[in-house]
Amino acid sequence: MMSEDKVTQLRPKVPCPECGQPSEQDTFPFCSRRCKNLDLNRWLSGAYVLPPAEDDEKPNPDQH
Ligand SMILES: [Zn+2]
Repeated sequence: MMSEDKVTQLRPKVPCPECGQPSEQDTFPFCSRRCKNLDLNRWLSGAYVLPPAEDDEKPNPDQH
């Protein structure tokens, strides 16, 4: 008797950090791509609070 079906249920469902709905495997730990993007955008906007670096030794790859 094999019970391979239970292998996929090892990971418990985690509520989406954005809306609290059960998360999906594709967008873990979020319930949907929308919530994933919401959290990502918030995280990125928070990262922009950091002061700009003063090093100019990074050339712009778009130039030339
Ligand atoms: Zn969600």
